[in-house]
Amino acid sequence: DDDSSQPVQVPRDKLLGGLLSDGFDERSCLSRYQSFLYRKELGHKPSSYLISRLRSYEALHKRCGPYTESYNKTLEQLKSGKQSGLSDCNYVVWISFSGLGNRILTLASAFLYALLTNRVLLVDRGVDMDDLFCEPFPEVSWLLPSDFPITNQFNSFNPKSHHCYGNMLKNDILANSTGSVVPPFVYLHLAHDYGDHDKLFFCDQDQTFLKKVPWLIMRTDNYFIPSLFLIPSFEQELGNLFPEKETVFHYLGRYLFHPTNQVWGLITRYYQAYLANADEKIGIQIRIFDTGIGPFQHVIDQILACTMKENLLPQVNRVEFIASPSGNQSKAVLMTSLSSGYFEHVRNMYWEFPTVTGEVIGVYQPSHEEHQQTEKLMHNRKAWAEMYLLSLTDKLVTSAWSTFGYVAQGLGGLKPWILYKPENQTAPDPPCGRVMSMEPCFHAPPFYDCKKKTGVDTGALVPHVRHCEDMSWGLKLV
Ligand code: GDP
Repeated sequence: DDDSSQPVQVPRDKLLGGLLSDGFDERSCLSRYQSFLYRKELGHKPSSYLISRLRSYEALHKRCGPYTESYNKTLEQLKSGKQSGLSDCNYVVWISFSGLGNRILTLASAFLYALLTNRVLLVDRGVDMDDLFCEPFPEVSWLLPSDFPITNQFNSFNPKSHHCYGNMLKNDILANSTGSVVPPFVYLHLAHDYGDHDKLFFCDQDQTFLKKVPWLIMRTDNYFIPSLFLIPSFEQELGNLFPEKETVFHYLGRYLFHPTNQVWGLITRYYQAYLANADEKIGIQIRIFDTGIGPFQHVIDQILACTMKENLLPQVNRVEFIASPSGNQSKAVLMTSLSSGYFEHVRNMYWEFPTVTGEVIGVYQPSHEEHQQTEKLMHNRKAWAEMYLLSLTDKLVTSAWSTFGYVAQGLGGLKPWILYKPENQTAPDPPCGRVMSMEPCFHAPPFYDCKKKTGVDTGALVPHVRHCEDMSWGLKLV
């Protein structure tokens, strides 16, 4: 009949369940509406409340973003150093800082903070933010204008700066001025080396004060969202936005981070050439924090022990030359690492010996950049493309402590097997374990009870904020 000539109706949800707004030009950022073609359907759906808050954020951003009337007005206050009453738009300025994985996690954190506090997020473009990411909000840019008056001070902001919030508290600068003079801007130092006073950012009382400051300039290299869930005044709103707590970064990440066309080319060409046709795609992300030149035997041992024990990859038969073929199922293994030694070992093993299952194993690694090079455009494009490619795999193995791996797992909605950190140059036993949730780990959380003003184990207060699998003092949402 007529119906049979119709193409099969595949559910096409390029807007990801309403997460994305429809108002963009497709060609200027192909990844935005094409990503769904490369990903599996998620088991979860974004809450309708999250969707409505994103749409209202977009309206706020349009009203308050760069060069709007409100922006210009609030900027005047910054220039004159005086604040004249409450401003109609308030801002969080995110300073570009640290490796790319870290930057992606901190941007998501800053955005959620902006959402919770009705602020507008503006992004310091650093060397390459606009080269890597498309604009996430319709019509008005998220990039901090290059003529922003205090950009040239960003480099000199540190925990001891006059404008640093922790430092102001320490020196009682604010106590004297309560109510009367509110500074037009405050520098929030939330990097791993922050002090006890900076950490008071995570207390309600301090949030009440910060509400009055129109410009918050933030530098961080940490995914601080787990601690936002411990601030009582944010609790209900966060619960409404994210009824499923482990999807926070997943949704924020897929909302915010769309590779530019150049990076999308790197991703899609690689995907089509090496991954698309495999029956199963396995990602293995190797990040070594030890000094010294690899490959290290204990890391090779750990990779093989983990992938075999967890049945991610088949054993090889070292006795027979030809395996009995059993259906010729194929697996594509995507490895990422700064060096090529681990990849070569795994690839050679599956070339030199047949698998016991007869499966065909292809092993691929897009690049081996040898060392971290934060300022180089192509280097960071490749890093972004590799995180994204890892997120397109079916099963993922990541390395402890690495934000590069956290980004991949979160975007992909994957619960990875995490390779525990080796101690004393030996592979740990067990070599890896499945994580509790796909959320990233907050590596430097505060351990402070704001009400009782004493230390407290913040990983033991509520069931959904726990210590991480790969870092015992870290916090993650589950
Ligand atoms: P983390 O240090 O593992 O938490 O991750 P970051 O992304 O913040 O910083 C590491 C940086 O080193 C990355 O941004 C890349 O520049 C580089 N890098 C580390 N591992 C890889 C890799 O597997 N592939 C590529 N292309 N770059 C990597």
